[in-house]
Amino acid sequence: MPDATLEELYREILLDHYRNPRHRGHLDDANHHADGSNPLCGDQVTVEARVGADGTIEAVTFTGVGCSISQASSSMMTVYVGGQSTAHALDGVQRFQQMMLAGEAPEDSDLGDIEALAGVAKFPARVKCASLAWKTLEQALRAADGGASAVTTDVKGVGDGGS
Ligand code: ZN
Repeated sequence: MPDATLEELYREILLDHYRNPRHRGHLDDANHHADGSNPLCGDQVTVEARVGADGTIEAVTFTGVGCSISQASSSMMTVYVGGQSTAHALDGVQRFQQMMLAGEAPEDSDLGDIEALAGVAKFPARVKCASLAWKTLEQALRAADGGASAVTTDVKGVGDGGS
């Protein structure tokens, strides 16, 4: 059974990120960026990152419009990956996607507050909202320096494999 108190806490975390988004805005000296969209809901997220020569994500920001889940998830994503290595960030993307499929965080999860989004797994349409920022980040990090990339959840949606 879900713990009502925990659900309340998760709701608070989401609302806090939605109302007070972290790292929202343009990054002037970004060397990686990608645009993501989730046509199903109308969410749009652009992720910009400055990655150092050693692969460290020195700075990351997002801009976008959309539902509270998409925007809160974007904010949480920037907090998680800022200052981390690219490898660690991509690892986080994998963990996040596992969580969206399983409805709970993996055993070795270091996602922290991001686990507040685990409950979204129950609502397949909202999974795309929650995943958008992470897919866009992945796209941005995999793009060559200075390259732009676009991702849409209609093409590579988490959980699209049918069940
Ligand atoms: Zn949405």
